[in-house]
Amino acid sequence: MTDIKSMDFEELKTFVKDIGEPAFRAKQLFEWMHKSLIESFDECTNLSKEFRETLKSQVILTRLKTVEVFTSKIDDTRKYLFALSDGNIIESVRMKYEHGNSVCISSQVGCRMGCKFCASTLDGLVRNLTTAEMLDQVYSIQRILGERVSNIVVMGSGEPLDNYDNIVKFVRIISSDMGLNISQRNITVSTCGIVPKIKKLADEGLNITLALSLHAPNDEIRKTIMPVANKYALKDIIAACDYYFKKTGRRVSYEYSLVAGVNDNMEEAKSLVRLVNGRNVHINLIPVNPIKERDFKQSDKLKIKAFRDFLEKKGVNATIRREMGRDIDGACGQLRRRFIESSNKSESLEV
Ligand code: SAH
Repeated sequence: MTDIKSMDFEELKTFVKDIGEPAFRAKQLFEWMHKSLIESFDECTNLSKEFRETLKSQVILTRLKTVEVFTSKIDDTRKYLFALSDGNIIESVRMKYEHGNSVCISSQVGCRMGCKFCASTLDGLVRNLTTAEMLDQVYSIQRILGERVSNIVVMGSGEPLDNYDNIVKFVRIISSDMGLNISQRNITVSTCGIVPKIKKLADEGLNITLALSLHAPNDEIRKTIMPVANKYALKDIIAACDYYFKKTGRRVSYEYSLVAGVNDNMEEAKSLVRLVNGRNVHINLIPVNPIKERDFKQSDKLKIKAFRDFLEKKGVNATIRREMGRDIDGACGQLRRRFIESSNKSESLEV
């Protein structure tokens, strides 16, 4: 069946024409799905009953099933476990900031990038998420909260640039003024560094922020924690990010997860300054969140601070990411894994 919620406006216009409906129905349908966030075509009060029945028989309206919501008592961060129609489980997070609600979404079920410290990739890639499945993470959270979502980060499970076409469509639909109208400036897509896709994204004419998961100042260390470093050299990745900045005018963020003894020494801080080499970038230092399957440890607080202070002293813009939702667990993919592990034990997962 046709996945109508994954269609961009052009595709929807063609669909409406093909089923013999007048052209204005495309805008109505788009707004029902992406602005009013309908859960069923029965809510579309300005569409005839016959047309609603036709839709029900010909298309699917993707919806996620909320399996569980965890709320942090510390900062009201919420983590959502959603079930997809094929029974796969994904996770999304809502963070509350002064400037509004920010939602972190997953782009794939699992991931094939193999980063050593990351829980999402332990069992490899299961499948890409459809555009609708990405949209509905935001839509479901906005519906459940009853509050507007104003920022999106694509930093949940999966490598978004490994699901390129769907992520670009996701951005176009969610930023459309016929949809939630979330400013592209408030959307961040994070990648482990897939060079050709970074360049392609630079040419899309979008206004989103690119975040690069750097995690090491040279290829040697990077290769020990990120298998993708065997495919793309840092100098090519940085060149692609420079191209992104040149084309979009958007400053690139470099993510740097600090792992004790691996990449958190002064020597690495110095190489990082050399690598940045006066570029207008922002470095986000993230204390690694240890996962039980691997033996990585968080750097101690003083070391993290010294690392940041050194960068700042050398004129490199850097912040230490505030840990949110500490009490409700987890880095990327941990919650989903724990849920699947426990439900495998009790075989109680019903979707
Ligand atoms: N695949 C994309 C986006 C997903 S992960 C990417 O690589 O950028 C979002 C960020 O969290 C990435 O920078 C990733 O490297 C980081 N990350 C994953 N697991 C982590 C952990 N256990 N501790 C700290 N950062 C982690």
